[in-house]
Amino acid sequence: MVFLPDPRCAALGHVPDDIPVSEFMLNEAYGRVAHDQSRDPYTCGLTGQTYSSREVVARVDHIARGLAKEFGWAPNQGTEFDKTLAVFSVNTIDSLPFFWGVHRLGGVVSPANASYSAAELKHQILDSGAKALFTCVPLLSIALEGAAQAGLPKSKIYLIDVPQPLLGGANPPSEYKSLSQLAEAGKTLPALEPLQWGPGEGARRTAFLCYSSGTSGLPKGVMISHRNVIANTLQIKTFEHSHRASQQPADGRSVYSEVSLGLLPQSHIYGLVVICHAGAYRGDQVIVLPKFELKSYLESIQRFKISVLFLVPPIIINMLRSQNICSKYNLSSMKTLFSGAAPLGMETAADFQKVYPNVLIRQGYGLTETCTVVSSTHPGDIVLGSSGCLLPGFEARLVSPEGQEITAYDTPGELVVRSPSVVLGYLNNDKATKETFEDGWMRTGDEAVFRKGPQGTEHVFIVDRIKELIKVKGLQVAPAELEAHLLTHPAVADCAVIAVPDHAAGEVPKAIVVKSPSAGSDEAAAEAIKKHVQDHKARHKWLKGGVRFIDVVPKSPSGKILRRLLRDQEKEARRK
Ligand code: ATP
Ligand code: MG
Repeated sequence: MVFLPDPRCAALGHVPDDIPVSEFMLNEAYGRVAHDQSRDPYTCGLTGQTYSSREVVARVDHIARGLAKEFGWAPNQGTEFDKTLAVFSVNTIDSLPFFWGVHRLGGVVSPANASYSAAELKHQILDSGAKALFTCVPLLSIALEGAAQAGLPKSKIYLIDVPQPLLGGANPPSEYKSLSQLAEAGKTLPALEPLQWGPGEGARRTAFLCYSSGTSGLPKGVMISHRNVIANTLQIKTFEHSHRASQQPADGRSVYSEVSLGLLPQSHIYGLVVICHAGAYRGDQVIVLPKFELKSYLESIQRFKISVLFLVPPIIINMLRSQNICSKYNLSSMKTLFSGAAPLGMETAADFQKVYPNVLIRQGYGLTETCTVVSSTHPGDIVLGSSGCLLPGFEARLVSPEGQEITAYDTPGELVVRSPSVVLGYLNNDKATKETFEDGWMRTGDEAVFRKGPQGTEHVFIVDRIKELIKVKGLQVAPAELEAHLLTHPAVADCAVIAVPDHAAGEVPKAIVVKSPSAGSDEAAAEAIKKHVQDHKARHKWLKGGVRFIDVVPKSPSGKILRRLLRDQEKEARRK
């Protein structure tokens, strides 16, 4: 059985496959960014500096000309991988104009996460085959170290401007060229020839080489085509449109517009596609913040009257824990909160709703390999714990561990999806590509269940990563479920649950906990936490592996718990 999108949602229309994503975003015939000249698609949340649509269009052109001269590239020469640039920067309002400038030349952007260490950056520079690295002053020392380890000379390092407050009053070092200098030079350079792409070229060519979060192992270079980005942007727009048909103007162009939060990393597919592409495409003003810092985050919501918050669960939890600070700000503009990238605990959602009753809490599920959103909750059909309905253009199947097709509701299996947003594969990794992609279908590695919601639509519930499910006497325990439950206990500030081997049961759950300041002694807190599970959960879910306290739970920047690191620590401890 193939599970299908919400039938009330319009079908996905034509997805252009012969243009780069830059043209899709900037051309009047396609993109909102260019069409609505009165809007400011990207505004810096720290300084208020803003780019209007007109300025974005001009900036992309200047950057493309400047890059062409600097690197000796031409739009129709060489393959896209001959023109790969790595980016290691905090979020800025210049990022998207820069990325599209590279696309205008037919090149590839490989954005690295701003929290990477030098060794992690080295891996990405080498694996992507980047010809140069664009970084920023706050990350320069790590960038230099990573580039040196990867054998990239200093002359191939460029600086992206960051807001003044991040420079601490100092001027950027003058020995590096900056993106702004390239753009400035581009103003007087000759116009570029247009990209001459035939049908299907946009579906074959990589636009972004994003690295997966590295939750299950080393991050993989995911080849995302131009058409993949266009597809997911249109899928998101079509889904949102369908649910707001009454607000749609007669010309069919303007979608509702919001002020949305651009805090999540532009290097991760969620920040990149959902916020910076789909958000701008539907006419949002994206308030770009370089990094999470509670005060500037709250100030931005208040100052810019942010209405849509794109967040990950740790920030939601942080807000709930910092109510004494949050309550000092006027956050009444907040209308919608989207949570994605990791499971949002039902209790966390319920707690947030209590504090902010007027905010609609929505959840989305997606992967780098699907160019982000697979499913999203529909505003009028929210079911607690559900990741919503499939977006238009998606088909889904559930497969049992034995490879049998699951056709029933309420029965878990591996989620396998097909969509025009399913990416081309992994760079330099044929084995993983073959294991994951087949005939347009992608194995997500996540266990999911479909259930009919009260309105008759098919809802997808993500149980957990298959490889992280704990098997207790053959029964499955999802760490995510226990983690969400543990977070409701006052002694728990943060936590992770992992499997530890057990003689009798095979595996049992163990909690790794960061104690809250109000928690008592380790012994008392451990007992209280174990009892909290025993009082509310089935016996096989009890913390038979015990409780261990640590200072911080290792997480990826998007809030994914790096359970593999904790498992390694446990193994190491047992060996000693
Ligand atoms: P790697 O593939 O390198 O191990 P990763 O899978 O964490 O890293 P991403 O592509 O950033 O890298 O994340 C996709 C994964 O995030 C999904 O496979 C799923 O496990 C998890 N995820 C995303 N959204 C949700 C959600 N709403 N609920 C639960 N899990 C989610
Ligand atoms: Mg993954």
